[in-house]
Amino acid sequence: MSVVDRQEWDVIVVGAGGAGLRAAIEARERGARTAVICKSLFGKAHTVMAEGGIAASMGNANPHDNWQVHFRDTMRGGKFLNQWRMAELHAREAPDRVWELETWGALFDRTKDGRISQRNFGGHEYPRLAHVGDRTGLELIRTLQQKIVALQQEDEKETGDYESRLKVFQECTVTRILKDGDRVSGVFAYERESGRFFVLEAPAVVIATGGIGKSFKVTSNSWEYTGDGHALALLAGAPLLNMEFVQFHPTGMVWPPSVKGILVTESVRGDGGVLRNSEGKRFMFDYIPDVFKEKYAETEEEGDRWYEDPDNNRRPPELLPRDEVARAINAEVKAGRGSPHGGVFLDVSTRMPAEVIRRRLPSMYHQFKELADVDITAEAMEVGPTCHYVMGGVAVDSDTAAARGVPGLYAAGEVAGGMHGSNRLGGNSLSDLLVFGRRAGLHAAQYATGPAARPTVDDAQVDTAAAEALRPFSAEGPVPGEDIEERSRPPENPYTLHQELQQTMNDLVGIIRRESEMQQALKKLAELRVRARRAGVEGHRQFNPGWHLALDLRNMLLVSECVARAALERTESRGGHTREDYPAMERAWRRVNLLCALTDPTGGLAATDPVRGQITLTSETTEPIRPDLLALFEKEELVKYLAEEELYE
Ligand code: FAD
Repeated sequence: MSVVDRQEWDVIVVGAGGAGLRAAIEARERGARTAVICKSLFGKAHTVMAEGGIAASMGNANPHDNWQVHFRDTMRGGKFLNQWRMAELHAREAPDRVWELETWGALFDRTKDGRISQRNFGGHEYPRLAHVGDRTGLELIRTLQQKIVALQQEDEKETGDYESRLKVFQECTVTRILKDGDRVSGVFAYERESGRFFVLEAPAVVIATGGIGKSFKVTSNSWEYTGDGHALALLAGAPLLNMEFVQFHPTGMVWPPSVKGILVTESVRGDGGVLRNSEGKRFMFDYIPDVFKEKYAETEEEGDRWYEDPDNNRRPPELLPRDEVARAINAEVKAGRGSPHGGVFLDVSTRMPAEVIRRRLPSMYHQFKELADVDITAEAMEVGPTCHYVMGGVAVDSDTAAARGVPGLYAAGEVAGGMHGSNRLGGNSLSDLLVFGRRAGLHAAQYATGPAARPTVDDAQVDTAAAEALRPFSAEGPVPGEDIEERSRPPENPYTLHQELQQTMNDLVGIIRRESEMQQALKKLAELRVRARRAGVEGHRQFNPGWHLALDLRNMLLVSECVARAALERTESRGGHTREDYPAMERAWRRVNLLCALTDPTGGLAATDPVRGQITLTSETTEPIRPDLLALFEKEELVKYLAEEELYE
């Protein structure tokens, strides 16, 4: 038996982004001893990169805004596939979560009369994004971190130990959720710096690990986004929901190649930026889909007037939901009307004075100046779609954030599915993190400190997890279950495997999808899975990035297979999922959720080599939308989205 350090906690939160930190604060405040564990430095989570703002219907910039309008916008953005109860809770609770942040010390930009300022964003009917310039995520994390430190100071006063009730394990990676029978018993993790293994025991685990973007070649996501939480849930026996929905943000940098994919915030368009093709045309007016026709301006003049007089004019189509704008850019480039480096032009220089651009979009100004030598106050940016966000994720209960089928497991933030349906509106992630991070922490704490006996960690599972983690150091030895021919093959380089995976997902399961290409992708993924079993590394366990990547590959391959299988199955186009061979949104598909689970029902722990695990896809009917929520929409609009039998009902 391997000897690893063990500690006992009530709640373990995996991830220290917005969702993880908000969950940890709530769990600790509810009396649960809480451990937070994160792959990167404390304060360095992906949430820090969020730019535009937090969507919440506070009504500061337009008094007509309220939770019902926000709910409607969110459902429209998600093309009605959203888990409607999540969309309701999110719209109702987001304002409280923003005001709460302010009481914890967040310094938002202000309106002239001193209230929290709110800006326009795609798909939101009113200016709704509370923001701090274009560095909102940084302020959000800073505030949550400060709150954690304040709680630790309280604990020190009472117990003499800052970390007695709330401790952060930074630069540590979880590779397995451990279980006692059906329920959660803790996590297995390694310290990135030393390579040391350890176990945290607890009855409740909240997964808050963010997204999956690093499976794609062009992405706005950081190195942490390797789909770990999605894979950990799958391996623990929890299904993933609607993984075909991956958001390609319309505006990533396209040049120079070294920065391709880095995000250009939607605030640029929210604040007046316009998209033009190589002929100088504002092409978005040609791409307003029927379902949105009544809500968007027909002429440039009307669109421009809307910025000053939103009550009497309609929004410009540059502010359509992201999926629509990304597809339009893709079509323009394909039609030969793109910019020199394969994107289109995004211009603020002719729309705002230079000093306003520098004040409202300071990060964008510096990003383009330093990375591309482009002065956005004087010339247009070149932009194109980039893989940005995953709407699919762990299937959770809307109210409690409990993962389906695994008692003690919770998920919140980008890793959880359902909230955003087939497409997320900008700004709705930061509010999602706060609303459902809090709910996950609350329910995890209640569960963990409840009457049930504490679970026991099984030594055999710890040994299996340790052997799995050490496998890349002995890739030359036999891999359990492989044949003689395979055994003679040399070890594989994890970086090569990763590049091949990213290219495959980008080219074959990207923004526009076709059946033959996705089948090709699944074949390639199967080949990569076999090769990944031989992913080998040299050196030792002390900070060894090759080893870390070899371990992350398991997660990226599992998640990519889910995306490809679900995308192949859904024969329609909806939100972030566009099928060239099935271009229409089909009302019958609105009632269908696709669930991915590991074929090995034990969650892979019993198998000698869990990487062999395959994905099984099932479909289920979505829960009917509550009548009082349906009543918030005009009947004519519902006809465009709901399935025949739903309208009848
Ligand atoms: P994260 O903030 O990514 O945190 C994940 C945490 O999990 C990290 O601490 C990581 O270290 C940890 N982790 C991962 N795997 C493991 C593991 N195996 N073991 C231990 N720890 C692990 N949304 C908005 O609403 N508004 C915006 O303006 C906005 N702007 C954005 C700009 C950019 C450039 C990008 C990329 C995204 C933006 N988004 C925005 C989206 C939003 O930032 C993310 O969806 C959100 O921050 C995700 O938060 P999270 O808490 O779920 O995960």
